[in-house]
Amino acid sequence: MQDSLPTLLKKTFGYDAFRPLQREIMEATLAGRDVVSILPTGAGKSLCFQLPALAREGVTLVISPLIALMKDQVDTLTANGVAATFLNSSIQGSESARRRSGLENGHYKLLYAAPERVMTTGFIDDLQRWNVCAIAVDEAHCISEWGHDFRPEYRQLAALREKLPGIPFMALTATATERVRGDIIKQLHLREPAVFLASFNRPNLGYTIVPKSKQARQVFEFVRQRPEEAGIVYVQSRRSAESLAAALAAEGVKAVAYHAGLEPADRARNQDAFIRDEARVVCATIAFGMGIDKPDVRYVIHADLPKNIEGYYQETGRAGRDGLPSECVLLYSRGDLVRNLKFLDEMTDAKAAEIAARQMRQMADFAEGTDCRRAALLDYFGEQLPGDNCGGCDICLQPRETWDATTQAQKLLSCVFRIKQKSGFSTGLNHVVEVLAGANTEKIRKWYHDQLSTYGIGRDTPREEWTVLGRQLIRMGYIDTSTDNFQTLSLSKQGLAALMNRTPITLVRSPVVAAAKEAGTGRVARAGSVACDEGLFVQLRALRKRLADAAGVPPYVVFGDISLRHMARGYPRNDREFLSVPGVGAQKLASYGADFLREISAWLGTHERLTFAEEAAPPPAPKMKSENGMNASALETLRQFAEGKAIVQIAEARAMSRGTIAQHLALAIASGKLEASARDFYTMEEEAAIRAAAAEHGYERLGPLHEALGGAITYEKLHMFRAFEQRERR
Ligand code: ADP
Ligand code: ZN
Repeated sequence: MQDSLPTLLKKTFGYDAFRPLQREIMEATLAGRDVVSILPTGAGKSLCFQLPALAREGVTLVISPLIALMKDQVDTLTANGVAATFLNSSIQGSESARRRSGLENGHYKLLYAAPERVMTTGFIDDLQRWNVCAIAVDEAHCISEWGHDFRPEYRQLAALREKLPGIPFMALTATATERVRGDIIKQLHLREPAVFLASFNRPNLGYTIVPKSKQARQVFEFVRQRPEEAGIVYVQSRRSAESLAAALAAEGVKAVAYHAGLEPADRARNQDAFIRDEARVVCATIAFGMGIDKPDVRYVIHADLPKNIEGYYQETGRAGRDGLPSECVLLYSRGDLVRNLKFLDEMTDAKAAEIAARQMRQMADFAEGTDCRRAALLDYFGEQLPGDNCGGCDICLQPRETWDATTQAQKLLSCVFRIKQKSGFSTGLNHVVEVLAGANTEKIRKWYHDQLSTYGIGRDTPREEWTVLGRQLIRMGYIDTSTDNFQTLSLSKQGLAALMNRTPITLVRSPVVAAAKEAGTGRVARAGSVACDEGLFVQLRALRKRLADAAGVPPYVVFGDISLRHMARGYPRNDREFLSVPGVGAQKLASYGADFLREISAWLGTHERLTFAEEAAPPPAPKMKSENGMNASALETLRQFAEGKAIVQIAEARAMSRGTIAQHLALAIASGKLEASARDFYTMEEEAAIRAAAAEHGYERLGPLHEALGGAITYEKLHMFRAFEQRERR
């Protein structure tokens, strides 16, 4: 009798429940369909092909790009009692012969191989003889030139489909732009695949953005408060990776550097030290990350401004794969943006430079934003977070401070207006700020801007504050910027009206300016936490490390932090209780049960047993499609909209951001609760432009659509467009 999937899940991997979409994906592949699984990092992609492999006759081939990763995955499977192996260039001679003979005898359920292996002579014949029954392509975005990690070898995989036409394929990736997804389907010749797209929300990750002052000091303070935890610090250059690691090491933190400039042997050694819990902190450039599966990275710090939101999201995603609360901290300074933009001068491809510049500004807008960080990130992926407060980012956790910005806004708006009036051309924000500050620059002298009535009227306020205010007014639609690289300012219709009528303007104080507090000293309580006896937990970790070293595997292969925390919470006394710990299956019980039970019982001999309250319910999942009910806050927005107010007016009246108000309306439109006309939000010409771009890029993810339109159409309008489209579909 074949075990059911849930039984296999418990027996082999020790888990009680599937993560979202895992079961659906497994059932689709077992039904013989081709499958595309797009799940964020940490969602549990591996299990999607590993568990079905156990339920099938024959061996499942897994294509994986990195040799180190292959070995770790095979070690993990072996530790769970699954017969798995890998073939690559590091395996030779008698060891290779041994594995091949195991494959001939049908001994293995899973075989990992690198893509280039597929084209070696005879390999496809081998596969047929070995009774290959399914093929999983991990990191499938590597097949697409549109992805961030194109590997030409992946293109050869199409040959597999040709030679093994009856075998179901599964492609897995965490990269989900429409383009990449389409490319995967096309290049692998998938046949009417079942596509599964999970939410990109990571409820266990907390997002904090703090002003950058003294980078090394701030990082050290953060690290010092987490003496037991492992983390990654991303920096922009090889040199800063080295110097930051050295600075931390000088303070006694076990830190290593990782970047593309290191000798391969040094790189491998540093990575290995991190995976084996010997180095706590890696100071890395973006070269670090894809090659590691370490599930207990507790924080990711961006000590320099990332170049785009997609990259930021992927890098923060390396924290907390195991689902335990983890932190993402960004040290932000505007100087980083300026520096990043300057690098672009060296680019010869003007179009590419323009796209990169736009992405960099988008990233800075995100950092300076006053909206929920999670909502802003998910927005990029086309998702909407229910409710107004995610409970896990600096914005949502601090009371929002609003201030009456009317007078300051009047000064800035009128300065923009006067410059254009006097000179007949517009300038960028920097120049406007210089005029307000009464500076004596060459441009001011050349253009006689010291004769403007607004010259020097802003001396009382620091320049950075003017800059932030300017950017807020741009975001709120009072000021338009040209779409070329100069980003010159002009008043929008709304801005002109505000200037003429002295419209009151209330703003949320940008947290990046509000307080120059130290980096993330306060911990954010978050989804996924497992309260436990911390003393015992430390003890169990030490035991884990000893056992892992003895077996020559990374500690997480023995047990993940989640399992240890559950042990240090439930204090299992016998095999039966030990089996109820998540992550403990039959094989792990046999290998490690006795050691851990002994440690726990010894602990209880000298310590009191603690009790813990029930775990909190998980937070509500974000909605991919806008069909959720309205909360009270959204209803209030609808009421004011029905009175004829515009988005910006409602936002001001309620001291909420425009984005939130727009989201309320978009939800109501999409779900049919609000009868509105598209003309309330965007013009016919704009609609035509959006529609044309959406035909190519889709409209599920607004980030790519916004980019395709050259940034000329605001996110707000795109939100509304999507809502009307969704309503049509219903
Ligand atoms: P991904 O490849 O999507 O980043 P992984 O396959 O590495 O994710 O899984 C992340 C972590 O989640 C691993 O430690 C894995 O053991 C764990 N995991 C996967 N599925 C489940 C499940 N159903 N229940 C509990 N833990 C799971
Ligand atoms: Zn939030």
